[in-house]
Amino acid sequence: VWYPQGTVLAVQANFYHVQLDSNPPPPTPSLLCTRRTRLKKVGQQVMVGDRVVVEEPDWEGNRGAIGEVLPRRTELDRPPVANADRILLLFTLDEPSLDPWQLSRFLVKAESTQLSVELCLNKCDLVNEQEQEAWRSRLRQWGYEPLLMSVKTGSGLEALEQRLERGITILAGPSGVGKSSTINRLIPQANLRVAQVSGKLGRGRHTTRHVELFELEQGGLLADTPGFNQPQLTTTAQNLGDCFPEIRQRRDGNGCHFSDCRHRDEPGCQIRGDWERYEHYLTFLEEAIAQDTAQQHSG
Ligand code: GDP
Repeated sequence: VWYPQGTVLAVQANFYHVQLDSNPPPPTPSLLCTRRTRLKKVGQQVMVGDRVVVEEPDWEGNRGAIGEVLPRRTELDRPPVANADRILLLFTLDEPSLDPWQLSRFLVKAESTQLSVELCLNKCDLVNEQEQEAWRSRLRQWGYEPLLMSVKTGSGLEALEQRLERGITILAGPSGVGKSSTINRLIPQANLRVAQVSGKLGRGRHTTRHVELFELEQGGLLADTPGFNQPQLTTTAQNLGDCFPEIRQRRDGNGCHFSDCRHRDEPGCQIRGDWERYEHYLTFLEEAIAQDTAQQHSG
């Protein structure tokens, strides 16, 4: 027998909202499902974002039972989402102004998830063209093509939707940059509470505790709950280099002969050098080494 497959968009108590694949077209677009006892017995959890097989769908009653969870390509903790494809990192040039060290820290954290990373600068209504261009070319040197946008004026929103039109996207960024506003704008059903700005630094707060995926108008799914907004670097010293596009590029050339090189003081290392974030790399490396050491002592 053939059973339909789909994606879990939301989990509510013991029920799973499954959006069915549209090819072939199912009799109804989604089913409210339970989890088969068989899965419970083996401790198989079902997460938002999971790809599942729905057994014995009851098309009249819009019900079904999840009989299988397909292997996850990726898995995030916060928010708990399976099979996410990218992190959309949101920052601003003003209110709050852009702090390169903070941005770098967020980028490294985002890269360490191994998802693809899109960088977006919101509130471009607050800064002039010249400053926007200066940042754009600076961030290109970092290996990113930032999208400048404004939720307020709507500028750049179409381009943003294009970047998100496939797969599952998680929004992340410090508070006050407009994450809730962006989510509200792209998925009006999500209905997050946008904070009132208090003082110069607008502090935003979202009140949702669970996570749900919403379909974007142009295609693609967006989590209604932002991911990390205070990144703890979780990468090991060994993996830190992979989190810098500048290092990846230099390594893919003929950058470094040693597979375990830390690009610090090793003789003949071509990656060490005069690129802007090398200084960030060295600082984060010290942190990662300290973390690794602390872990070894506690383990
Ligand atoms: P969050 O903390 O990242 O979720 O940020 P919020 O969505 O709560 O937004 C923080 C503040 O920035 C709110 O007062 C928003 O109205 C404001 N804001 C959001 N987007 C824009 C924008 O494009 N331009 C301007 N000028 N303000 C914005």
